[in-house]
Amino acid sequence: MPELPEVETVRRRLEPALVGRRFVDVEIRDPRLVRPLEPAEVAAELAGERVAALDRRGKYLIVRFESGRSLLIHLRMTGSFRHAPRDSLDGDPHTRAVVRLEDGSDVVYRDVRRFGTWLLLEPPELDPYLAERLGAEPLERTFTPKRLAAALAGRRAPLKAALLDQRTLAGLGNIYVDEALWRARLHPLVPAGEVTDEAHLRALTRAIKDALRAGIARQGATLRDYAQPDGSRGRMQTEFKVYGRDGEPCDRCGTPIEKIRVAGRGTWFCPVCQRRDEL
Ligand SMILES: [Zn+2]
Repeated sequence: MPELPEVETVRRRLEPALVGRRFVDVEIRDPRLVRPLEPAEVAAELAGERVAALDRRGKYLIVRFESGRSLLIHLRMTGSFRHAPRDSLDGDPHTRAVVRLEDGSDVVYRDVRRFGTWLLLEPPELDPYLAERLGAEPLERTFTPKRLAAALAGRRAPLKAALLDQRTLAGLGNIYVDEALWRARLHPLVPAGEVTDEAHLRALTRAIKDALRAGIARQGATLRDYAQPDGSRGRMQTEFKVYGRDGEPCDRCGTPIEKIRVAGRGTWFCPVCQRRDEL
C-alpha cells in the first residue's frame, strides 16, 4: 500500500505533466472510484479544468484546479498512475480512469483492488475535509517533538497503532512505522501515552522524518503494485531495516529480527535494540 514516500514520488513525477495543462476529456470506467456519484457526471465536471498545482497531504494527492476546485485522490491499496502518449496504454484491464491532456498525452489511473477514490471538492470543502481526517504533516518544520507529544498524550494504544492512525500523524503506514520505530529504538507495543521522555520524543520525531526521507530518496518501495508514472519501480524495498526481514540480522546489533502482530498488522522489530522495558 502506498505510504507518504510513494505518494510523494508519484506527485513529483506527475507534477510537470499536469501543472498548467487542461483536462480535455475524462473517462471514468469504474463507478467505485467516484461513488456515490455517477462516473459520467464527475467526468463531465472535470473536463475543461486546468491544473494549477499538484499537492500532497498525508497519503492524499490533491489536484488543484485554476477554478479553485480540487480533485482529492487516495490510492489506497493498489492505485497508481501512468503518464504516456495518447492511447499508448490501451488494453490494460485494470485501467479505472483516463484523463486526456491538451498536449496529446494521457494520464491513466489503474487500480487492481479498486479501493482507490477520486473526490471532486468545491473550494471551501477541501481544508475541513482534510483537517477532520489528518494530523500533522511529518516532513514539515511544524512537526516537532512537542507536536508529537501532544498527539500521543494520554493514549493507551500501542505506539505502532497510534502512529498508523492518520489523525495522529498523516502519511505513515505499516512499512514506515516499523522502520521509524527501529530507528528510534522504540518497541511497537509500548503504550503511546507512555512516550513522554524528551529524548525518546526527539528520537522518534527524527526517526519518522529520516525513514520517510529515505523512502522518498529511493522513489518509494515496490512490493507488488506500486510503480512510478513512467512504469519504473521504487528501490526502497531493498533497504528496509526491519520490514519483512524476520530472521535476518539487525543492521545495528546482529540479533535476528522478530515478527509479531500489532493492531492486526505484521510488525517487525529488533528485540535487542527495541526493548519494551526500557521506557
Ligand atoms: Zn538490533
